[in-house]
Amino acid sequence: MDVYGGLLSKLIEELSRLPGIGGKSAQRLAFYIINMPEEKVEKLSQVMLDARKNIKYCRDCYTLSDKEVCPICASPSRDHKTIMVVESPRDMAAYEKTAQFKGVYHVLHGVINPALGIGVADIKLKELIQRIQREDTEELIIATNSSVEGEATAMYISKLVKPSGIKTTRIATGVPVGGDLECIDEVTLLRALEGRITI
Ligand code: ZN
Repeated sequence: MDVYGGLLSKLIEELSRLPGIGGKSAQRLAFYIINMPEEKVEKLSQVMLDARKNIKYCRDCYTLSDKEVCPICASPSRDHKTIMVVESPRDMAAYEKTAQFKGVYHVLHGVINPALGIGVADIKLKELIQRIQREDTEELIIATNSSVEGEATAMYISKLVKPSGIKTTRIATGVPVGGDLECIDEVTLLRALEGRITI
């Protein structure tokens, strides 16, 4: 039964489509929103719309940015010869939070996962290979998660890169198996980075 009718039900339904938002949370948010000052709601929807329209992939590392080149890639103080390969912009943010890594990143946007039908062409791997051919890369640090797919993707990349002679390293196993990079504390991340091994 449609208790609230029309617009309110519609708002609850749309909110409940968002990840991690169940029926109850959607209801709570909807009630919150309808009690917000109108200009605040306008601002929120405008920011959402602007973000959706203007955020795109960085030309070089494929993280999300509203600039053609993201601030990290554009920074002259970063070591552009060391590229850390991560699965997602969130993993990149986790490493950035440690403030210790001075290189640049490459965001794959996923890992190879045959069970989910995600193949080599579905992640930004071709773009990585083109980038290292174009740039003067000295080291590629593969920091995909330690899931089965993350490991398999790391091995695949290392084989692909081998002929180029670029040093390829893998972050240490200090990162727990199946561990999601963004959930791991900074000390563990740093240890994993410092203890990286050549593959
Ligand atoms: Zn970038």
